[in-house]
Amino acid sequence: MYDLLISNGHVIDPAGNVDGWFDVAVSHGRVAAILEPQSQCEARQTIDVQGQYIVPGLIDFHVHVFPGVSHFGIDADPSCLARGVTSVLDFGTAGGLIFDGFRQFVIDKVQTRVFALLHIAGQGLISSPGTLPGLGELHDLRYCNVENVERVVDTNRDVIVGIKIRCTANLAENGRNEAEGLELARQAADRVGLPLVVHSPDSSLSIEHVLSRMKAGDVLTHCFHGKACGLVDAELKLLPAAKEALDRGVLLDVGHGFGSFDFGVARALLEQGVLPHFISSDIHYYNWHGPVFDLVTTMDKFLHLGMELPEVIRRTTILPARFLKRETELGTLRVGAFADITVLDLQSGEFPLIDAAGRTELGKVRLEPTHVFRSGRPVGLLPRPESRPQPMTI
Ligand SMILES: [Zn+2]
Repeated sequence: MYDLLISNGHVIDPAGNVDGWFDVAVSHGRVAAILEPQSQCEARQTIDVQGQYIVPGLIDFHVHVFPGVSHFGIDADPSCLARGVTSVLDFGTAGGLIFDGFRQFVIDKVQTRVFALLHIAGQGLISSPGTLPGLGELHDLRYCNVENVERVVDTNRDVIVGIKIRCTANLAENGRNEAEGLELARQAADRVGLPLVVHSPDSSLSIEHVLSRMKAGDVLTHCFHGKACGLVDAELKLLPAAKEALDRGVLLDVGHGFGSFDFGVARALLEQGVLPHFISSDIHYYNWHGPVFDLVTTMDKFLHLGMELPEVIRRTTILPARFLKRETELGTLRVGAFADITVLDLQSGEFPLIDAAGRTELGKVRLEPTHVFRSGRPVGLLPRPESRPQPMTI
């Protein structure tokens, strides 16, 4: 007798090469079996999902979920779990000076499974050029203390999976501190043996410089932005240095965000065969009422750009799970994995999709989460956030 049977669904589990009609059985919070439909088996509870997609609990590779401390922060459970995302990677909202609070008040408290990149700057994302004081996190490199990074990583290795830096001129004293900040982040990542994750839009450094400091397994986020220090030239052709970096194993993250996803750049790069390893929202305070809303809306944009659904699911399940080094338990429906499961309805119609440059295209399909389970327990869902103007300039 199983605890739960999710029946009548189309299962897509790229990690297990499953793409077809199956029932998913759950016991003791784990996936117990993938069964032929209508198998005669007993379960305490059966949920008929009527032709919808059953996929591993979605993983949003790029979010900011430290509300009340970072001005970017939002609550993980309503913005992620209640929208079909069972695990997230917080993208360096906290640095070493405030990480204990992030652990205590977020990671250890919320229902969403939260992993973290540690920001190279100890204060993390508590201020920006648009706050008072208007200071980016690289305004004083004394905050980038490699020894403190090492201390904090060593006591939080179960949740910290990489080191983050934002290379953007106005976060680094008009670019003056960018090159040295990047070196400190490189040093810190090497010292703790974790990947380096770099954000580069509007950096004063060249993309060639940034990529030359990155190794196999490191991640460049905001890979489809249309600003300075991107992967393409003026004709939207992949730059030679970018091709070389991809060939040697640098990974790409979408990180849609408020200013970092451009339909034109994304379309051009997809046409040139440049596929992102991770499809992520970069959801935060300034974009969750548009244009980001939630992870599934970013997934809708890739369906709109012609990516097949199983490839979209791969980039929101097993590929991020591998980066987190949790691929036996997360991002898959293999027997024994956590029963983190998302059921998605693929709806047809006309759905406006807005990129970060403010351009609207009309999507023909849209994914809507209809059931979410965390360790086999159902989770309450919330509707897509309503569209509202941006609260302030960051
Ligand atoms: Zn971000």
